[in-house]
Amino acid sequence: MHISDNGSGELTLYGDFTITLKVLDLTTNGAPNLNSLMTFTQQVITSKLRGGGYKSGVIYFEYNSSTKSFNFRKNHTYSIRYNFNCGVNVIQINMLSQLKGNDFVLAVVDSIGHQFTDQYGKKHNSGGLAQRDGGPAVVSYNEWRKNKYIGVHEFFHTLGLGDIEDLSKKDRLMYHLGDNTSYNISDNERGDMMSFLMRNISDMTKGTYSYTNLNFNTLDLLRRFLKDTTNGFKYNKAKFR
Ligand SMILES: [Zn+2]
Repeated sequence: MHISDNGSGELTLYGDFTITLKVLDLTTNGAPNLNSLMTFTQQVITSKLRGGGYKSGVIYFEYNSSTKSFNFRKNHTYSIRYNFNCGVNVIQINMLSQLKGNDFVLAVVDSIGHQFTDQYGKKHNSGGLAQRDGGPAVVSYNEWRKNKYIGVHEFFHTLGLGDIEDLSKKDRLMYHLGDNTSYNISDNERGDMMSFLMRNISDMTKGTYSYTNLNFNTLDLLRRFLKDTTNGFKYNKAKFR
């Protein structure tokens, strides 16, 4: 990984990342299309993360390009270009013991009872739900079959993105009112996800960086998320013990 400084307030970060998303099938009757949905999801995540991201107005420590280090006593406002290569693996796990530390997880359930009201006052059923910023993501198998992008949408909440309800942005992947015209991700959204994955840019100067440095417990978070009755998840509880 390395950083380049253009000398007028723009840092470009280069690096290689591997993201693994573990899929846990909690459906009662099994999910025969799971493999093709996972393949699709892996392809879409890969292509959406490609092409770099951009964030402006980022206040961070001042970078010294000759010493390749940050001055932790001084702040600087940067525009940051993220030039990351992200390898993406979407894999199925069959046992809870395969969930470790702060793994990313997408659990597949029978149905989701939760409804939300949009900014126009209209009620919608939730095809998926996720906890922002590293938390677990859950999709309803039937809804995922109807809209193959739901898995990616929920995972991108995990990577820190919010929902879009602006009717002029129906072409966006994070638009969630159900009548999308397309599934685009903006450079800014990509920048937000990359900066979430990076957390501490200064860690880049240490050589290898791992997201596993963060203290989450995915299994605990998922357990609490599944039990939260306001989410209305129906799933095979025998598969989650
Ligand atoms: Zn959403």
